[in-house]
Amino acid sequence: MAQALDYKCPQCGGNLVYSAEVGLMVCDNCGSRFDPREFQAQPQPPDPAASASAAGAPPQGAPEPVPGETAQAAAAAWPPAQFDQYTCRSCGAVVVAAATEAAGTCPYCRSPIVITQQLEGELAPDLVIPFQTTRDQAVAALTKLYGKKRLLPKVFSAQNFVDEVKGVYVPFWLFDYDIHLIEHYTATDVSTVHMGSRRHITTRKYAADRAGDARFLGIPVDGSVNMPDAIMESVEPFDLTQAVPFEPSYLPGFLAERYDVDSSQAAARAHDRLIKSAGTIFQDTVTGHERVASAGAEVFIKQTRLHYALLPVWMLTTFWRGQRFTFAMNGQTGRMIGDLPLDRQAYWRWFFGLAGASAVVAGLVATLAVSL
Ligand SMILES: [Zn+2]
Ligand SMILES: [Zn+2]
Repeated sequence: MAQALDYKCPQCGGNLVYSAEVGLMVCDNCGSRFDPREFQAQPQPPDPAASASAAGAPPQGAPEPVPGETAQAAAAAWPPAQFDQYTCRSCGAVVVAAATEAAGTCPYCRSPIVITQQLEGELAPDLVIPFQTTRDQAVAALTKLYGKKRLLPKVFSAQNFVDEVKGVYVPFWLFDYDIHLIEHYTATDVSTVHMGSRRHITTRKYAADRAGDARFLGIPVDGSVNMPDAIMESVEPFDLTQAVPFEPSYLPGFLAERYDVDSSQAAARAHDRLIKSAGTIFQDTVTGHERVASAGAEVFIKQTRLHYALLPVWMLTTFWRGQRFTFAMNGQTGRMIGDLPLDRQAYWRWFFGLAGASAVVAGLVATLAVSL
């Protein structure tokens, strides 16, 4: 059984939730406000079920046998390993949740809950970007996106077209890399000269090599199997200079997932992304020819730093004619994504640490270092 923390107002016992509007924890009953960097959840009475399971030390995520139950075998099979259960401190209900859930809401009493064991030890995030946009802003952004599409069915422009809006802290790995890249290109020019009825075509081929060092900071790769990778990559970029040291007090009122894709699996995707974008940017410097084609590359990659961060994303779902439509909004910048193709180039230019941009990169490094 997992340990669940709820965040109660010390003045009145109401539920505290993190408010993106004011950047503070706010009591939904009396309106008292608290700084999430300083707020400590009140000590809570020990949960007898939790201490019993700690003594028995079952493997994490394993089903918990119920002692003395005749239906013990049946109980041991539920919940299955991909689920976990916790006791709600507010109403006492035993709640079954996905084993990757780190924060959510009690389905019985609606109290916001943080599952601390999903955020400790190896699972402890070092950074978080708190939500800076509200649920209302997410719905408004979706309405605006729909408004631009003329051929949209009428139902989408109705007021209540959104079936589900969830604010989710998504687990992300942030990779820093220094790379040395050697790219080979073949450039081609063709000229044609007419002499009477004859045509002379001259084709000139040139070998062009480019070599350089680049620094990539904070390449994000989402660490959640549940989250669609394409959507997560589309809501980027996040401004990582605004990331703050992680505190669980930023989570109440939102959902949070912990990673279930580890950093070595995620690194493969980060490598793909940096090789593609670095190659394109080098190719853009081979100019003055009719055609330029890649003729191979050598890349030396050194990972310099790794962060584990929770980043804010609004997920909006709507159903129409039995089909599910998912939209996402960057919970920091308000960037809204539907099923639209996106310009990824501009984003990577921002991160790319060529000599000219080294001052900007140094600034980013300094800010991250200070915020830890
Ligand atoms: Zn209160
Ligand atoms: Zn409850």
